[in-house]
Amino acid sequence: MHIHAIQTGTVKIKTAQVEGRGHGFRRQLAIYTDGNWTEWLPTYAWAIEHPEGVIVVDTGQGVHLLETPKSYHPFLRWEVMFRIEKEEEIGPQLHTLGIGTRDVKKVILTHLHMDHDGGLAHFPNSEILVSSGELRTASGWAGRIRGYLPNRWPSWFDPAPLNLTAEPFGLFACSQRLTQAGDVVAVATPGHTANHISVLVQKDDTTFVLAGDTSYNEALMLGGTVDGVSSNERISKATLDTIKIFARSRPTVYLPTHDPLSGNRLVSRRLVGMAERIAPQAA
Ligand SMILES: [Zn+2]
Repeated sequence: MHIHAIQTGTVKIKTAQVEGRGHGFRRQLAIYTDGNWTEWLPTYAWAIEHPEGVIVVDTGQGVHLLETPKSYHPFLRWEVMFRIEKEEEIGPQLHTLGIGTRDVKKVILTHLHMDHDGGLAHFPNSEILVSSGELRTASGWAGRIRGYLPNRWPSWFDPAPLNLTAEPFGLFACSQRLTQAGDVVAVATPGHTANHISVLVQKDDTTFVLAGDTSYNEALMLGGTVDGVSSNERISKATLDTIKIFARSRPTVYLPTHDPLSGNRLVSRRLVGMAERIAPQAA
């Protein structure tokens, strides 16, 4: 089994989105009043070459996102910027890796935000799995008002519902196996969106957490810092704590979508907390 990190362009957001400020409605408003942008952050998607077939986790950005400055939605128009070339979309990049999109058996979406479902058009022949609750939240005009882009989904988009059962996986209360072997598992990581999921890949003794937007980087997860868009701070914080405790219980590599270190961390298998453990020895 091999996991590929596929960077599908970059994104810039407000610092108040990365690290929430204040509480409740004021926290979400803070994104609009914040004058500070992040650096250009990567948007990763993942391809798992598995003996049971290739599994793609999230599909990254698409070039249609370059049109967001023309959007009527205030968030899309003013609070996010994208960079992406056509050849940086996931389809051409898989092709370069020798993976035809027809070889992709399953596509799992952590959630349906536009920088995660932006490459869906490359997978008309794959089984696509999305949490039912997330699909409901993102669909129709209500979804568009929430900032989703259901109008950009391919016309054939009709994902299979990913309904996690109350079967615990480690500390995660709900899970769903994605392979017969049980080495790729979806777990509920609610917070960033109410039905957000993460995908755990067990390889040798190490668990790779394809974490979507549970946090924008590892330090924020370890610090229990909730982002500025989560609708429920308590639930988000509980998810971050669960991941942190999980990572203490076994060798874990944490791979959020927009963490600039995720690509290197995957290749070097840098475990959660490893830098922190090395630092005192170096001093
Ligand atoms: Zn998101």
